[in-house]
Amino acid sequence: MSVSVLAKQLLDAVMFREIWNAMKVTFTHMFHRPITFQYPREERTIPDTHRGALALLRYDDGAERCVGCDLCEVACPSHCIKVVSTEDESLPLRRYASEFYIDITKCVFCGYCVEACPVNALAMTKMYEYSTHDKRTLLFDKKRLYEIGERFIEDAKKYLYAHNQEKNDQMFHDYRYFFPQSVLKPTQPLPPKHLT
Ligand code: SF4
Ligand code: SF4
Repeated sequence: MSVSVLAKQLLDAVMFREIWNAMKVTFTHMFHRPITFQYPREERTIPDTHRGALALLRYDDGAERCVGCDLCEVACPSHCIKVVSTEDESLPLRRYASEFYIDITKCVFCGYCVEACPVNALAMTKMYEYSTHDKRTLLFDKKRLYEIGERFIEDAKKYLYAHNQEKNDQMFHDYRYFFPQSVLKPTQPLPPKHLT
């Protein structure tokens, strides 16, 4: 070790330079605005892309969007979704989820299920206050998921818009938003009578 380095170390020790450096950091922060939020009295503004509790959504006329296709269940890396799909007897080829469960204790909030859904029936919301002493209440069933969807519908729509999965335009209303009309009522002309 050279003499100049030794002299510098000696001078630093005599001047208590490390203490002065630490005090400088402390004094600098005394004049900064605190960034700590005093939760729950203060709440942060949550961005629209926030991945909070999942919700099931309805169309504006109140009909359930979910068609029970199971794609969300397949896409989920945590295997925490269970869909029981049933045929809708009032509409040909149309199905719906008679039961729907999400075990939120296993969910990693990746959003893959939302991306996989062909009709945007699932979305994430800004809801995050659902801690409980009873773990069993964190198995969200269909009723609870629709309740969250109704309560946080604006958050859910903003999430879908922010992730570019839904737009409030005609194309989404005609195509992705609903099933193509040809599925609901055939548009092909019927074959001539003598051929049937
Ligand atoms: S957010 Fe991810 S982990 Fe949670 S239910 Fe959806 S796919 Fe599964
Ligand atoms: S939420 Fe979407 S992906 Fe999941 S079963 Fe319903 S329609 Fe299919």
